[in-house]
Amino acid sequence: MQVWLEAGSEGQAFTYANANRPDGGARVGDLVRVRLQGRHHSGLVVGHLERLPADVRGKTILPVEAVLQRAAVTPAWQELIRDVAGACHTGLFRTLRSALPPGWLGQRARSGEGRRQWWLERVEGAGEEASLTARQRDLLAHLRRHGDRRRLQDLVRRDGFGRGVISALEERGLLRRVAERVDSPARQTLGRASGDPPVEVSRPLTPYQETALAAIGEAQPGSVLLLWGVTGAGKTEVYLQAAARERQAGRSVLMLAPEIGLIPQLVDRCRSRFGDAVVEYHSGLSNGQRVETWRRCLEAAREGESLVAVGTRSAVFLPLDPLGLIVLDEEHDSAYKQESPMPCYHARDVARQRASRSGARLLLGSATPSLESWLACHDPGGGARLLRLPERIGARPLPEVRLVDMRLELAEGHRRLISRALMGRLERLKERQEQAVVLVPRRGYHAFLSCRSCGEAVLCPHCDVALTVHRHSSGREWLRCHWCDHRQDPGDRCGHCGSTAFKPFGAGTQRVMEQLAEELGDLRLLRFDHDSTRGRDGHRRLLERFAAGEADVLVGTQMLAKGMDLPRVTLAAVLAADGLLHRPDLRSGEQCLQLLLQLAGRAGRGEQPGEVLVQTYCPEHPVLRHLVDGRYERFLEEELAQRRHGGLVPFSRACLLRLAGPTASATATAATTLAERIRAGLESAGWALIGPAPAPVARVAGRSRWQLLLHGPAHERGEDTGSPLPLPAEPELRAMLPRGVSLAIDPDPLAL
Ligand code: ADP
Ligand code: ZN
Ligand code: ZN
Repeated sequence: MQVWLEAGSEGQAFTYANANRPDGGARVGDLVRVRLQGRHHSGLVVGHLERLPADVRGKTILPVEAVLQRAAVTPAWQELIRDVAGACHTGLFRTLRSALPPGWLGQRARSGEGRRQWWLERVEGAGEEASLTARQRDLLAHLRRHGDRRRLQDLVRRDGFGRGVISALEERGLLRRVAERVDSPARQTLGRASGDPPVEVSRPLTPYQETALAAIGEAQPGSVLLLWGVTGAGKTEVYLQAAARERQAGRSVLMLAPEIGLIPQLVDRCRSRFGDAVVEYHSGLSNGQRVETWRRCLEAAREGESLVAVGTRSAVFLPLDPLGLIVLDEEHDSAYKQESPMPCYHARDVARQRASRSGARLLLGSATPSLESWLACHDPGGGARLLRLPERIGARPLPEVRLVDMRLELAEGHRRLISRALMGRLERLKERQEQAVVLVPRRGYHAFLSCRSCGEAVLCPHCDVALTVHRHSSGREWLRCHWCDHRQDPGDRCGHCGSTAFKPFGAGTQRVMEQLAEELGDLRLLRFDHDSTRGRDGHRRLLERFAAGEADVLVGTQMLAKGMDLPRVTLAAVLAADGLLHRPDLRSGEQCLQLLLQLAGRAGRGEQPGEVLVQTYCPEHPVLRHLVDGRYERFLEEELAQRRHGGLVPFSRACLLRLAGPTASATATAATTLAERIRAGLESAGWALIGPAPAPVARVAGRSRWQLLLHGPAHERGEDTGSPLPLPAEPELRAMLPRGVSLAIDPDPLAL
């Protein structure tokens, strides 16, 4: 049989014999112990072999030594992995590695059978029982007969109580769930008991929220819903109440957010409703913690506990079962796309596949839906349903957007980074006890340096990008590469002409902070960017300080726009919007408008109305026009019409093959050879091959990068990204490349 071990670096399975044992031997999905090169490993049985593969014929085949855990992955979960592997044109084992928590196989072998069990305890005096259903009262009486305490598994399997009854009682605080180690003689409680009554109660919904919630409840299993509502319209409240219903039906819920910075807020809101049924899964956890969450999900599936799992994109693979609902918040966000390593999946696509296989419903939420999801709601074959929350809670008005034409500022002799209009607005901030957020598209001090004598920019020695100037609070400056993290002293000579005189260009967050401090000395400032939010709780801590009123202005990069809810913020400003507008990318218009609208959503969430100021040299840009009009839907319609007309994504398919190698010539040769070998197959399927060509940033961290763009035939109604590509399988493609040249296949690249 085929056993997948994490030892297989190239993502392959190893062959073992299934010894005839009394327990019936290992089956697909079991976790087993095997021997490889004299060492024990745990591995996952991923397949049976009818015939031995050629490479092991004639060699001794070792037996599987022990079954460590039966059905460690379910058949349905394996099917999902197969789906993803197929859609992403990636081998099965590579896909498995990316889906399972890092170290999952190894950990399991070390810690053995330290399993735990769930017990339910009656909570005395937790409230009146008058309003309970007959079945709920039965359960409480039943527990009383068992000394107020019984194993969850026994309640479900032996005594026949449904999961819905149990979670309903838990939610009312009448039952408490306690974990105990199976192997420990004494009672040992893990974690906090769920007895503390939930802090936050669900609110009466607005009529729009009611309609949305009802539609979610009525939706067919496997269907997709798009909840479109501006920030502050009450989407999260809908998620929470939809989740509560799933739990009452005994099903688990998966809640995804695009970025780790958004997780704490979502976890807090879920915990206050669902207590210890909430688990987390994201890159801010250690490997051990991720394994622990994974295990908890497996146990919950076995024992009939319904969980609410909150996480970033990789959480889409958590083994929840039965799964009733997947919520994907901020569904338009490009962080849902995995760029590397392979599989280059989009969590939204995986969630859709998962929903249709498992019968869960997929609820996408956004204030600025992606073109793809919007199309799925409007196209007769798209199969998604649109739900709208057209107003903010309390009918708070959306902020007014004003453009500041920086050309006029300049013409009137005002050469500052910060326009007079913005200055005036900031000056009044303090007396009104209000706060502002200021978006600067770049971090660092200056965007780059250029040589005064030859005009060339100072580049990173390892990448084809300009170095950014950073400044320490002591005033010391250094240069940094935002791609490979190379650092150097700014005093070095120009690599082109040897001059030592440089001129700085472009302002980053640090420079804007300094400028603000100079001109508005009494404003208190905080910086929110990649550099100032390091560490596990970096985001949260900074936002908490700002929310507590430690500063008047928060200056930050794009991450400012995402999800924070700060009632005293009445002004959102963008310096140099042009840096966001003029990018040579198919989706740049969409992404820029999404970002600006999200940012606008930060202002005016409290009592005071909000305002948005956008500084630009190009106020007539269509994206800014749509921003001022606040008509996102019009933008989507225009954009879709253009793409349909031009046969562009999603009305055709694109696939990017990205190669990286040690030298430009080796990589170019490899790319050319690869192109020659796949061209015929592509063309006969109606696809075009564009390239090979150097990647837009042709060198990163000393590796030379080339790419091949594959373009599929036009398609009236939007392409299905899950259908197979006219390409040889991933291992065959890899075999066409020399050693040292790596390959990534991106079947639906976001950036084109
Ligand atoms: P979104 O997720 O769309 O940004 P939220 O669900 O966070 O919106 O709601 C915005 C604010 O309004 C939150 O403070 C939330 O607690 C509150 N809220 C949501 N729904 C209601 C409701 N039905 N009644 C009163 N307040 C609500
Ligand atoms: Zn020079
Ligand atoms: Zn670099």
